[in-house]
Amino acid sequence: MGKLVHRVEPDLILQSYVVEVAKGVTLVTRQFLRNLFGRKDIVTVQYPEERKPYTPRFRGKHLLTKRDDGQVRCVACMLCATACPANCITIVAAEHRDADIEKYPTTFEIDLLKCIYCGFCEEACPCDAIRMDSGVHTLPTFTRRDQKAGKVNLLELAKRSTAAQGGDFRADNHAGALHGRGGHH
Ligand code: SF4
Ligand code: SF4
Repeated sequence: MGKLVHRVEPDLILQSYVVEVAKGVTLVTRQFLRNLFGRKDIVTVQYPEERKPYTPRFRGKHLLTKRDDGQVRCVACMLCATACPANCITIVAAEHRDADIEKYPTTFEIDLLKCIYCGFCEEACPCDAIRMDSGVHTLPTFTRRDQKAGKVNLLELAKRSTAAQGGDFRADNHAGALHGRGGHH
């Protein structure tokens, strides 16, 4: 059912808008003075002089992690490139001279213009070799070529990996699991 609304007949004061304009100017002036002398009320960040920290879960520019001896941790297994829905990771693998490490990437390139920052690559990596927790936002560039992050570039942001080689699998854990200690059934 409809509701009957009685219109207010505007008198001369209302029609002149003087009171309403004065109310508006008062409100704006009060807010202006509050912002001028009480900066803590301002939620605007004066970018780029002031920058808010990204949350720890922010997916930023990719980085490749290093081993304890400083070598790149990636073993060029191609799992990240296979999982990547944007097909923007290019890896060229080579044999490693260390017999304990099968392969390493001679080329590791990510086309950041194609990347959708989904995080599938770091999820797919079995050895904590690629991460997106750099806290660095990918910046715009003048050319498309500059958006291709190569191995050296990815290593510039590199962190030392804290993961154990081969995941958290240990011979003693394995023995424990076999004897029913801490193993999954
Ligand atoms: S974040 Fe997603 S789109 Fe970007 S490289 Fe990784 S898997 Fe590919
Ligand atoms: S970053 Fe990880 S998943 Fe990608 S090739 Fe290297 S080891 Fe494999």
